[in-house]
Amino acid sequence: MNINSAIINGAKVLKDNSISNPFLDSEILMAKAIDKDRKYVLLNSKRPIDIDDLNIFQKLIKKRSLGKPIAYLTNKKFFWNSEFLVSNDTLIPRPDTELIIEKVLELTCHKKNISILEIGIGTGCILLSILKERKTFYGTGIDISKSCLNISKLNAIKLKVGSKLKLYKSNVDKFTLGKYDLIVSNPPYIKKKILKYLEKDVAKFEPKLALDGGLDGLSAIRKVIKKSSELIKKNGKFVLEIGFDQKNIVISLLKKEGFYINSAYKDLANNDRCIVCTKI
Ligand code: GLN
Repeated sequence: MNINSAIINGAKVLKDNSISNPFLDSEILMAKAIDKDRKYVLLNSKRPIDIDDLNIFQKLIKKRSLGKPIAYLTNKKFFWNSEFLVSNDTLIPRPDTELIIEKVLELTCHKKNISILEIGIGTGCILLSILKERKTFYGTGIDISKSCLNISKLNAIKLKVGSKLKLYKSNVDKFTLGKYDLIVSNPPYIKKKILKYLEKDVAKFEPKLALDGGLDGLSAIRKVIKKSSELIKKNGKFVLEIGFDQKNIVISLLKKEGFYINSAYKDLANNDRCIVCTKI
């Protein structure tokens, strides 16, 4: 069998299982199975596929047909300007979260040597993208998941910003180290009750720890806001990702903790997604 026919067969299996981009996914999984990039796959589609590679490919197709996200099968995801390693324990970086990077870059275009804290660093996609863009900045990342810290460390090395990053395994409540010019966070903010109604790929495969915001969806956000108000310098900026229906309540929580609201921004789907505020 050649590469192309294997891809067509794979795409058919995916389509029969209602996977939305069957052909593209099949190509990506072929590239993973034969350990090449997609360009190689497209340019060499007539080449025969080796039996061991075909086995690997079919296993990947099987997993994808059960809904496992492509990023967990390839262990990578592109975000902002870089490719990030991901694992089953990390949330997959979302295009909507790039809004945080955009806003941070606008806020810091004349700044040098500032220190940034990220609460719940996950893959590191937010903090590391900023450190890569702003070479004089320093970053500190905390997470309760050791496995996320391992992945963000590897990503920091991959993006060549490892020397500017400190990582701590800590619960947000317990962290007391330092004062920061800028704090960023994309905490879990989905209501516990609706977790199971998220898209199947998300609900079945992404870590609950990174999604579950408790009964009202705000339990992590409350802690993050409270802690940020203690760890931030006066006039420091705080950039927070929120759920589509949380803008008003989060604004009132921020005000109570002494933040001035600069703006709320919408994501690509026109949902409220990010708040920028200043500690006064
Ligand atoms: N935006 C993510 C989703 O839609 C949720 C991320 C989070 O809870 N921080 O699944």
